[in-house]
Amino acid sequence: MAEPRLTDPARGARQGGAELVDPFGRHVSYVRLSVTDRCDFRCVYCMAENMTFLPKKDLLSLEELDRVCRVFIDRGVTKLRITGGEPLVRKNIMWLFRALGRHLETGRLEELTLTTNASQLSRFAAELVDCGVARVNISLDTLDERKFREITRWGDFGKVMAGIDAAQAAGLKVKINAVALKGVNDGEFDELIRWCHARGMDLTLIETMPLGEIDGDRTDQYLPLSIVRARLMDRWQLTDISYSTGGPARYVEVEETGGRLGFITPMTHNFCESCNRVRLTCTGTLYMCLGQEDAADLRTPLRASADDGLLNQAIDEAIARKPKGHDFVIDRRTNQPAVSRHMSMTGG
Ligand code: SAM
Repeated sequence: MAEPRLTDPARGARQGGAELVDPFGRHVSYVRLSVTDRCDFRCVYCMAENMTFLPKKDLLSLEELDRVCRVFIDRGVTKLRITGGEPLVRKNIMWLFRALGRHLETGRLEELTLTTNASQLSRFAAELVDCGVARVNISLDTLDERKFREITRWGDFGKVMAGIDAAQAAGLKVKINAVALKGVNDGEFDELIRWCHARGMDLTLIETMPLGEIDGDRTDQYLPLSIVRARLMDRWQLTDISYSTGGPARYVEVEETGGRLGFITPMTHNFCESCNRVRLTCTGTLYMCLGQEDAADLRTPLRASADDGLLNQAIDEAIARKPKGHDFVIDRRTNQPAVSRHMSMTGG
């Protein structure tokens, strides 16, 4: 049986092994888990319309996903975000939420959360709360139904609005994430701020990242948030605050509404120095950086032995290779994605 290699022996042994510390001294305490690459939407900046999805046989079972999460929690991970694809379209996904919820009860996991397009929340919001989920990120780029259809191609705006209502009615704290798209939703940020804050929801704006082949040209869509922020400051008083949810967003308070507005700026200001995250795909591939191709296969060690030794060893080797940062470039000359996989594969 292979013993887990201690990344930082000085921190002492925890249940199952030492905490995960990368070569730059960053503690990895946050795992984003993509439970499926499938989605019921086809957002134009995320996927091509005729996407080919993974064969179901390549996916880790829900039991395997539960096991790999438990091993990460043994190694000091305190925050899990379930994502996709659309996580709530995976069959029987509530089994996994319930299984992971038990770590909230023991206090070893501080937060279990998810990123969703809200299409299934009317069905699942109450059960998510019952599993210990307190907070959800909902992706919504526009409040204009026609535009919503253009962006998502297949999305049903009414269902999404009902999902947001259901989430709030169930007591979930909701944050809205909107990707800033030049010429598409850049005239709507004032309305989005007003709408979110009136409903007690934070709003975060995100820069488009060059991930995966899409049908269009990314340079046409890319809108630097430095410009958005400067424009917003003509109309709103924005005050920097130190609020953080453990993710990459930098927040301001909008004085006029009293609500929070976040900016996720992987392109104009990368946030790698404070990166505490790794991403696991539904096939058991671990990406140490959203913007790099390097990855580690955890499925083979997971399946090779019922003992966690091999898996811990593979995780240690992966964390030892976590890169210092990414260098996304959206450039009209190359128009190539920085990484070939789509966001739906690695998870947002
Ligand atoms: N289906 C879920 C949802 O809609 O939130 C979770 C997965 S989705 C891939 C996660 C987030 O990634 C969404 O907010 C989406 O807008 C964002 N996203 C997808 N492709 C992106 C890209 N190329 N650049 C920036 N954000 C992207």
